[in-house]
Amino acid sequence: MLDCLVIGAGPAGLTAAIYLKRLHRDIALIDAGASRAMRIPRTYNYPGFPHGVSGERLLERMREQLGEADGELTADEVTLLARHDDGHFSAQCSRGGEIRARTVLLATGVVDGEPAVDGVDDLRQRGLLRQCPVCDAHEFRGRRMVVIGRGDHGARVARFLHRFSEHLRLMSGPGEGAADARLRVALQEAGVASEEATLQRIECAAGGGVRLHREGHEPVEADVVYAALGTRPRARLAQQLGATLDAMGNVVADAQCRSSVPGLWAAGDVVSALDQLAVAVGHGAIAATSMHNTLPS
Ligand SMILES: Cc1cc2nc3c(=O)[nH]c(=O)nc-3n(C[C@H](O)[C@H](O)[C@H](O)COP(=O)(O)OP(=O)(O)OC[C@H]3O[C@@H](n4cnc5c(N)ncnc54)[C@H](O)[C@@H]3O)c2cc1C
Repeated sequence: MLDCLVIGAGPAGLTAAIYLKRLHRDIALIDAGASRAMRIPRTYNYPGFPHGVSGERLLERMREQLGEADGELTADEVTLLARHDDGHFSAQCSRGGEIRARTVLLATGVVDGEPAVDGVDDLRQRGLLRQCPVCDAHEFRGRRMVVIGRGDHGARVARFLHRFSEHLRLMSGPGEGAADARLRVALQEAGVASEEATLQRIECAAGGGVRLHREGHEPVEADVVYAALGTRPRARLAQQLGATLDAMGNVVADAQCRSSVPGLWAAGDVVSALDQLAVAVGHGAIAATSMHNTLPS
């Protein structure tokens, strides 16, 4: 039986795996290959890279570091996780294998909400569909921004971005604008144009700009689009074990990254916390050390 099973090899799971291997633990690291970090064209807020680093490159370096510690990553998906009476876990993988481990770390991340219209793939590939204002609003300061948002969350994102650009517009679907009157007034006072309209498609202009086509209106031109449509935590395995989730579906974890299920830790975006690379890495380090200290020496 393994000491630890780490599910997910984004920054959180890879950090935990590096730590656990260097603590001489027998582990398996299973990854389904859909890290959010792969979608970061270049991050400038991750400490230690003054000129930025792409998400792909960061993951590549972490995998290399895991290799240096004699660790390896298995490309697979854990589809079922069970906890047995003696406290150990068994995991079923989509390729048919079963893994047994004394402890499990869930580092499975979240899925981003995106506008469901033509042109989104192109926008994302060009790095012009942004999901994280805390990460990169600074890079787009002063530029023409459109926030495609839903409800109060969309309005909060627009209010946050207003600090970085006055050329800001909030677009919500019909009936999907902010419900909170104070938020609406705050946006109005800040001069943020907000509207409810049906977005039909997004077009990336050859010169680098973006054109958003709305039903019954003239197209809107922008330099960057922020999606503020929420995220969906990949917390199904935690749910299978009856772990406590918060109202947004994130795994609730304590300061040691322990979930409410004994032997089950959680780290990174899937946990109720700030969704950032640095936080995921910090969680991974804390969880791995806590798991190690819990296991027999
Ligand atoms: C466009 C974009 C730009 C961003 N820019 C920045 C930035 O500049 N700075 C910053 O700090 N953050 C940024 N972020 C956020 C950052 O990418 C995340 O906070 C970070 O990747 C979270 O790491 P994680 O390890 O928790 O999850 P992820 O990186 O999402 O990794 C989770 C992994 O778990 C795997 N997995 C899920 N379920 C299973 C399963 N059942 N079995 C096996 N594997 C599974 C997934 O396939 C995935 O590989 C950005 C995000 C996006 C989308």
